[in-house]
Amino acid sequence: MPTAVERREALEAVFEQARGCVRCPQLAQARTTVVFGSGDADADLMFVGEAPGANEDRLGVPFVGQAGKLLDRLLGEIGMERGEVFVANVLKCHPPGNRDPQPAEIEACHDYLLRQIELIEPKVIATLGNFATRLLRADSTGIARLHGRPEIREIGARAVRLYPLYHPAAALYARRTLETLREDFARIPALLALGAPSQPEPIAIPAQELPEPETPEPEPAPVYVAADDQLGLF
Ligand code: URA
Repeated sequence: MPTAVERREALEAVFEQARGCVRCPQLAQARTTVVFGSGDADADLMFVGEAPGANEDRLGVPFVGQAGKLLDRLLGEIGMERGEVFVANVLKCHPPGNRDPQPAEIEACHDYLLRQIELIEPKVIATLGNFATRLLRADSTGIARLHGRPEIREIGARAVRLYPLYHPAAALYARRTLETLREDFARIPALLALGAPSQPEPIAIPAQELPEPETPEPEPAPVYVAADDQLGLF
């Protein structure tokens, strides 16, 4: 089990890669910063939103605008704060004009999110809204049907408790959605208390399928050349 410091360092290395990412030319050209994610690299609870907005693009931190303030308030209501969780998005770059993430962008950014999940090893992943929920469930069912129902899903090599929630932005001006989101949030502590789900057996590769270990080429002997009165080593 890696230490918190090891997780943080490994995440920083992925951030270094993402920081110079040009997989989506339009996003790379328009962005101010890559909004990689923030919080505790050793968190039990991870939130995955949609994509950075204009404020996040300016500051390089996810969920700093109105939706982020609501996220903080809802966390406070269950006795938690931002520093205890890890917050990331499906896209690490702000889509110009706040347009929806495009399928090719989601695909291009997917491995950054998978690496984050793999390194943080959260017990619970709360997906905020349709984009994160559809991506991590690999299914097109919408959030209106799924919110508030935890399920165990394998993401990469690990099983997690996936917990779909409405996106806080959808609750900013809709009182009933806010009440639903608040009720769903209230179940997070009990979900965390269940701990990580049991993990899948590692896939065993039969010995005969393993590649033969390579025998290293013998080191070439150093070549000594006599030049006049001295020996040269090349
Ligand atoms: N909405 C998101 O989905 N992510 C952010 O970081 C901000 C707003």
